[in-house]
Formats: sequence, structure tokens, C-alpha cells
Amino acid sequence: MANSTHTPAEQAHRTIHAGGEWLAASSGATREILDPADALPFAVVAEGDEKDTDLAVAAARRAFDAGDWPHTPVTERAALLRRVADLLVRDREKLGLLESRDAGKTVEEGRVDIDCVADAFRYFADLVAGEAPGRVVDAGSPDIHSVVVHEPVGVCAMITPWNYPLLQASWKIAPALAAGNTFVIKPSEITPMTTVALIDLLVEAGLPTGVANIVTGPGHTVGARLAEHPDVDLVSFTGGLVSGTKVARAAAVTVKKVALELGGKNPNVVFADACETEEGFDTAVDQALNAAFIHSGQVCSAGGRLIVEESVRERFVAELARRAQKIRLGRGTEDGVECGPLVSEQQRAKTEDYVASALAEGAELRCGGKRPEPSPQRPESGYFYEPTVLDHCHREMRVVREEVFGPVLTVETFRTEDEAVALANDTEYGLAGAVWTADAGRARRVAGRLRHGTVWINDFHPYLPQAEWGGFGKSGVGRELGPAGLAEYRESKHVYQNLAPKPVRWFSG
Ligand code: NAD
Repeated sequence: MANSTHTPAEQAHRTIHAGGEWLAASSGATREILDPADALPFAVVAEGDEKDTDLAVAAARRAFDAGDWPHTPVTERAALLRRVADLLVRDREKLGLLESRDAGKTVEEGRVDIDCVADAFRYFADLVAGEAPGRVVDAGSPDIHSVVVHEPVGVCAMITPWNYPLLQASWKIAPALAAGNTFVIKPSEITPMTTVALIDLLVEAGLPTGVANIVTGPGHTVGARLAEHPDVDLVSFTGGLVSGTKVARAAAVTVKKVALELGGKNPNVVFADACETEEGFDTAVDQALNAAFIHSGQVCSAGGRLIVEESVRERFVAELARRAQKIRLGRGTEDGVECGPLVSEQQRAKTEDYVASALAEGAELRCGGKRPEPSPQRPESGYFYEPTVLDHCHREMRVVREEVFGPVLTVETFRTEDEAVALANDTEYGLAGAVWTADAGRARRVAGRLRHGTVWINDFHPYLPQAEWGGFGKSGVGRELGPAGLAEYRESKHVYQNLAPKPVRWFSG
């Protein structure tokens, strides 16, 4: 975002990119970005509004309607995406650290995120480069040539959350660019830094002016304007159910395409037979810990709902709680830290409220349930909260029904396979879930019955760029990643050519 005519202090808040220029907010407003580990500001960004959004959309519109990108040969588009992946690898340390400070995660998690972002760019480059340019349709006559081709949708608006800021952005930007679209992205107002940095990398890789635009700012102004904007053809949103519903409603007025990646309440079903050997038990407990507490549970697919067979419950939960208490909490940039803080005071307050409601409704606290003691690695001002295990939960509790998005694991039990499936499917969401069992037949049976967009068997959390990601029910509409994740950013066009035209003579006159 360097602009040589401005001093560094002036540049710092020029985080709006429209039509190839880095700009301050038209109102002059700025926002401090806080490090969740100590609540101190470490960056300042432009606080954009509707006017800035209109400017960025106009730039994206011009670049789509009059620019070269939509018509650039697909091999060149793929080559650009691969250059972006290489630049991400080059800047891995810097971006990993920035993601850690922005979102509170450990630097190692930040690095892994950047690797995954590079993978997404490479995957979509390979996908489009290897495709046939269209599908010939048999029209039943040698005089007809009929082909279905794919074209870009147009101007894409992208709205992203704070938990995986750059990863979620890349699942939208990479396929959108691969398909030939232009875009305006609005990152979460509390974690915009790596998305701003990515725009610089897109420019460095050679993306034409106006194709990539960003407006930093709040959801109720910038996000809402993008969703309703008449010059936007598609809005792709990742975030919570409440905001997602507002986006869908606003987008309906102009009948734009809508893709929604929303929340989850993800079951982790453990059968007793998975725990028969010491190794099986250790693996299932270790993965249950990871499922619930990685990134302090601020993961859309977090396995926050443990559904364990009654006969192994006590042993399983005791070991889980023992290990949860040993998770090393602290500032993500400190050596030896395994888990960072929550992203904001608001997120911690929400978590505390869910734990209080669970205890009031009869849950038993096995560990956590409070803020940790401050330490040199854990400033008192940081948004830390201990990994919390709540036993004796049931499906009527709020903490079991609603997405907590914090380090809270609830425990429910079952006695039969049918009961396990019924519990796992008893959610309005349907993003992801897992089943742990040593019985291959049962694994397949249960996986087949789970109403969730991703089902893991004897694993938790992995995803593949080549496999679709998205949810059933209120977890969303549409899919990211995989061929369907590219299809979201395309229109299909049927071109029917008559090689021997003749009059139809339907009308006799
Ligand atoms: P959020 O809904 O509060 O915000 C998401 C984005 O929407 C932000 O950029 C925000 O500014 C914007 N926004 C808010 N109100 C808006 C409005 N009225 N119009 C347009 N935009 C608006 O979500 P969050 O707290 O940032 O993220 C956490 C949520 O994201 C969780 O529910 C989580 O499950 C979900 N999530 C889902 C996936 C997935 O793949 N399904 C991935 C990551 C996060």
C-alpha cells in the first residue's frame, strides 16, 4: 500500500483500495486495530463507509465491463494465481505474524493459515487451467452446434469474518479471479491487516488495475452497502447467522447471486469401541481436545459438542479435562504458547455468558470456566479464557443449541447408534461432524446418516481444497472449494448455432 507522495504516518490508514489507488476514508475516519493478547493498538486503518464502498464498486464495475481481465486467456489467469501463491510463500513469516497479532492465534497457526491460502490459489489455478473450455451438447442434428460455456458472474462482493481472516478471503478471491471476475472485499473490521496485505501481493503479481478492491470498515455500513448495491452481481459472505440473514435479505432486492458460509454446532461422536485400545483412547481424546480448543474454539467447524457413549464417558471426560487444564495459554507470538486469547472483549463476554447459562441449567464444570491468572505471557488486559469442559449437558441447554465460538466443550451421552445419530443431527446447523469407531461398517452407516456438509471418520478438522466445504441447514447456502466453489463465481451460457438456418413458417402470412 505504499504511495510515495505520503509520509508513513499518512499511509498507515490508507487501507481502502479502489481503482488502483490506496486511499484514506472519504470521511477521514480511522480505526485502531487491537492485539487481542493485550488489547493495545498495533495498527490504524481507514474506517470506510457507504461512499467509499460506492467508489470501490464503481472501480470493479469499470474493470469488469471495460477491462481485459474477464477475457484474459485462462492460462494467463492461472499463471497469475500461481505467482500470488509464490509471493505468499515468500512473505509467509511476515503474514503469519500479522495474522497472529490480528486474530490472536499462535504464530505457528498463522503460518499454517498462510500455507493453506497459497494452496487455495494453486488449487484454483490448476482447476481452471486443466478444464475444457466448454461442454458440447448433442442437439440431435448435424446442422446444430450447441455448446455450454462458463463466464464470470461480474462484480463480486466478499464479506469475511475475523477467525481465519486471510484463509476465508482466499476461498473467495482465488476462485473469483480464476473465473475472470472483479471484486470488492470487506474484511472483518477487527482483523483487516492480512487482507490489505494480500491486495498488495495481487498488484505485485500483475493483476490489472481495478480488478481487486478493498474497503475496510464496519458491517452495518460497508457490508450492508455491498449486499444491496445494484452494481454488484454476487455477494459471498462468511460469518454468523444473524449478519448472514441480513445480507441475504438485502441482496434479494436486486436478485444478486448469494453464497453464505455461516456458523456450525458440530458434533463429535465417540463410540466406546474407538477407545478399546490405549492408543485408540489416547487418539480419540487428543483429537477431541483439538476439535474443541484449537484457536480457542473460534472455528466454524469446532467440535464443541462431544457426544460420547455412556460406558466410556467418565474415563474419557476425566482425561479430556486433565489435558484441557494443561493447555498453555498466552500471547500467540510467545514461544511455547499453544493457544491464544479470544479475539475481543465481546467474544469473551459471550463465552462467559454461555458458561453461566449452562451452569444455571445444570451442567457440571469439569475444568476452566474462568479467566486465567495473568502471567508475563498472558497480560491481564488480554482476552484470555480457560478451556472449559461442561459435563452432563443436554440438548435443551442454550450452550448445546447455539454456537459459542469460544473454548467451551459440552458433553452429552448416548447408549445406541440411533440415539447417537439423532443427537448429532439435532441442530439447526449442519456444517461438520465426526464419528469415532473401530467398526468400519458402523463408521460408514453413521457418516451416511449425518446431516452435515463435512463428515470426518476417525479424524477431526482436516479439509482439502479439492473437496467442497459448506453446510446443510442454517450453516449456509452454496459451497466453497472444490469444483462447486469455482462454479459459484460463474454463469453458464448455452450457445446454440444453427449451421443451416431455414424459415420456421409457424406463421402462415
Ligand atoms: P459476523 O457475522 O459478526 O461478521 C462477519 C462479517 O460480516 C464481518 O466482516 C462483519 O463486518 C460483516 N457484517 C456484519 N453485519 C453485517 C451486515 N448487516 N451486512 C453486511 N455485512 C455485515 O461474524 P464474525 O463474528 O466475524 O465471525 C464468526 C462467525 O463466522 C461464526 O458464526 C462462524 O461460524 C462463521 N464462520 C463460518 C465459516 C464457514 O466456513 N462456514 C468460516 C469462518 C467463520
